Formats: sequence, structure tokens, C-alpha cells
Amino acid sequence: MTFEQLGLSTDILQALSDQGYEKPTPIQEQAIPIIMTGCDVMGAAQTGTGKTAGFTLPMLSRLQIHANTSTSPAKHPVRALILVPTRELAVQVHESVKTYGKYLALRSTVVYGGVNIDPQIEVIKSGVEILVATPGRLLDHVQQKMLSLSKVEILVLDEADRMLDMGFLPDIKQIIQLLPQHRQNLMFSATFSAEIKKLAGKILQEPVLIEVAKQNSISELITHVVHPIETSRKQELLIHLIRQKNLKQALVFTRTKQSADKLAYRLVRHGIASTAIHGDRNQLQRTEALDSFKQGLIRVLVATDVAARGLDIEDLAYVINFELPNNPEDYVHRIGRTGRAGVKGFAVSLVSKEENKQLLEVEKLLNTKICIEEVKEFEVRKEFVNAPGRANRFEEKQSKRTTDNPGKKTSASKRGNDRGLQLNNESRNAKRVGKYEDPLFTQPYVSKSDQTKADQSIDSDRDHLSKEFPYHHKKNNHFNRPIPALFVPSTPGKNK
Ligand code: AMP
Repeated sequence: MTFEQLGLSTDILQALSDQGYEKPTPIQEQAIPIIMTGCDVMGAAQTGTGKTAGFTLPMLSRLQIHANTSTSPAKHPVRALILVPTRELAVQVHESVKTYGKYLALRSTVVYGGVNIDPQIEVIKSGVEILVATPGRLLDHVQQKMLSLSKVEILVLDEADRMLDMGFLPDIKQIIQLLPQHRQNLMFSATFSAEIKKLAGKILQEPVLIEVAKQNSISELITHVVHPIETSRKQELLIHLIRQKNLKQALVFTRTKQSADKLAYRLVRHGIASTAIHGDRNQLQRTEALDSFKQGLIRVLVATDVAARGLDIEDLAYVINFELPNNPEDYVHRIGRTGRAGVKGFAVSLVSKEENKQLLEVEKLLNTKICIEEVKEFEVRKEFVNAPGRANRFEEKQSKRTTDNPGKKTSASKRGNDRGLQLNNESRNAKRVGKYEDPLFTQPYVSKSDQTKADQSIDSDRDHLSKEFPYHHKKNNHFNRPIPALFVPSTPGKNK
């Protein structure tokens, strides 16, 4: 299948050829012809599959009849509205709209919170056909009576699951009320929870379902491993792993903003250039942190789940879960930051006995058993080994030790296949019949992301900041104090 065969105009084809795209990705192959017919679509696709072009290309194609060079704002009403959960995604999607539509006389802009609204108002006043927005800031514009959505023909909800996670449902409902009844609706989500299905039922009219990879499937390029460890020794183990494996870069996840700050600070105290990225950092701090990480100035970027969604970091080999997420689907999103564009990745989780439940949930979601490997100097105590639900695993490991090396204590024992990820029987069978095979994951295309991405900041607009971890905003929380953007030690290596 070629882009020509999908019926895209020569202007769009030229833009794709400028990008060096040779052929459509599976989601594009499926989505483009359907969206061009005007049908509603429910797309199950993760970032990295080419889904943005999957909806942007047919959208541009459908809007092409409205292309005009008039200077009158009235000639450029908003005809397509793309709602996204985070600032970074908003900027990325808008970049795609500009890139693929560069030969078309259609105007576009992006609006998100956390920055001055006035320049955004000026652009909107001059008229735009395509508007990319985070929900909160969009409503700010509507409230200021600077924006009419009465001519919207296409509504896109991108990363709908994350928008719900972040509490945007009331905003989305309010926005829907402002749109014409007759419109095309496209909804994309990495996961399909009951909530997502409910939202889809309310918004979409007889949608066509498009699915490219199995729900919650994970890249086969990623090796997963769990290191059991007491909570109190996690930091020590992390530092050990960074040094022992001589990790050039790692993206480390914590559950809360407080622990992200605390960990980044401690790593710096140990001579490891690190910084934290989360919703409480201001725009400049986030941009600097991401930029420094991408440039290799920072060795460890400590992130919360919301902050890391959509981060596109090339050649990132290590994602480390310092704490497992409460929501197992976040594990999939976290590790989706590595194993991209054909690069092999490692997903390492430091798991305490208190997190056994989360680990079991992750394994259940992935339908896999993750390899458990003790690190030599960090063997866990007996009572930890006997934690409920985990005992069998460790007993299995202990007995393997004995049979493998009678009398000799090994430093680590692996359970699982050589990729470190053991598929259970059902998964193995599924794999054999090709259920898990997705060329996107086995032969990924090379990302064309340009340097402008380095300038992007992350995170969403005003609302979710307090929703992610509301208790963080309690008075007297000592982590509310301002924190410097970058924790780079003045004399690297000195404070070891
Ligand atoms: P997305 O899933 O939309 O975030 O896209 C992931 C990356 O794939 C982006 O850097 C796109 O520029 C790139 N991409 C999208 N479609 C294609 C294609 N057909 N061929 C090559 N690269 C693509």
C-alpha cells in the first residue's frame, strides 16, 4: 500500500515525500481511507505507531475544500478541533499538522495552559481552520468570548484515556455542548477501559473500530526485569545499577512529584547529574530539563507518569521504575518510552514487597511473567522473600539455585526466556498464531522527529496539576519550596 493509493492529494503527498515517508504505517493504512469517507472512528493505538498522521492526513484532505488565502478572519472559522491531554502532545500534534499541511492554504494553531493567553488570542482572532488544544485552556478562550466552535466539522480526541485519567471529562462534556450536532468524531486511546467505552458511546456515532496492536501489547524489543528490594534500599540499588551498568542515560519513574524531586536531589548528591520533571515544575524548568536530557547533559531524568506521557526521546535504552505505578496501564506507557524506532530497550523495576500487588497487576495486564533477578549485593531478606503472593516465585528461584549449582550461592537467578520476559502458555500460543506480531514493533520505521521537539515542554494545562497528586498541595509540605531547574552537581563525581 502506498500513500498515493490512499487517495491523498498531491499537495499532501509532496509534504509526505519531503518528510521521507515511504509508505503508510498499519494504522495509517487502516484509518486514512475510513476517515476520508467521513465516518466516526475509534482508534486503539499507542504513540509511536504513526497515529497522528493517521488522523491528520485525512483531516487535511477533507478540509482542503475550505483552503483559501483570504485575509478576512471570517473566512477561517475553526473547522477541526483536536483535543489532547498535555502541552507536549499539543505541540507535537500541531507540528504534524503544519508539516503535513505545509502546501495547503489552511491555518492552524495550538493553545495550552501555563503560558500567557494573549498571544494565543491574537492568533485565534485572525482565524484558524485547525485548532489543537488542551481542554482547560480551550474553555478559557471560549469564556473570553474569543472563540466560536459553531463551524467545527471534525472533532479529534487524542489519548482519550489519559484525558479521563487527568480528570478532563467535565471539560470535554462542556466542549462537546459547544460543537454542532453534525460532525465527524475521531477518538484515539491506547487502552479501552469501561470509562473510555462509555465516553465513546456518548460521542461517537456508529464508529468504525481500528486497532493496530493488541491492547496493552508491548514492544518485543524491550527486556523486562524486576529487582526485588526493600523500599529503604531502592535509592542505593538505583545508584549501584547506574554505576555498575555504566548507564549513559535513564528515565526513572516515581509515583509522586515529591519522590521525583527527592530522588533527583539525592542522585545529584551522589554525583549523578539528574533532574525531575513533573507537573509542579514551571514551563521553563520542564523545557530545560527535557532539553538537557535530550542533549545528554543530564544522566537521569526522574519523571512522574503524567509528565512522561508522550515524551519522544531518541535512543533511550533504560526505563527504570523506581516505584511501580498504581495503575498497571501506566507501566505500558512508561516502558513505551524505550524500545522505539528499532532501538533495544530495558525496563527495570525496583519492587518492594509492598508493591507485590502492583507487580501482579502489571503481569496480569501484560499476560506475562516478568523475570525476577536479585542483584548480588542487594539480596532481599527472608521475610521479604516470603511475602504473600510472591513466595512461590522466590521458592522457585531458590530451588533453581540449588539444582543449578548445588552448594554454591549464585548472585542472581533468572526466570524467563533470554529476553528476560517470559510469556505464559497462552501468550506463547497467541504469539505462535501471530496474535502478538505487529510489524510496527518488530520492524519499526525510523522516527523523523526534528530538533524542534527539544524545545517542547511537557505536561498539560492548569487543571490536572492539582488533580494528579492533590495532597501535594497541602500546606507546610516542605517539597513545595522552589527547586532549581537542574540539579547538576558543581563538581561532578565529587560527592560520591
Ligand atoms: P506518532 O505515533 O504519531 O507519535 O508518530 C511517531 C513517529 O513516526 C513520528 O516521529 C512521525 O514523524 C513518524 N511517522 C509517522 N508516519 C510515518 C510513516 N508513514 N513513515 C515514517 N515515519 C512516520
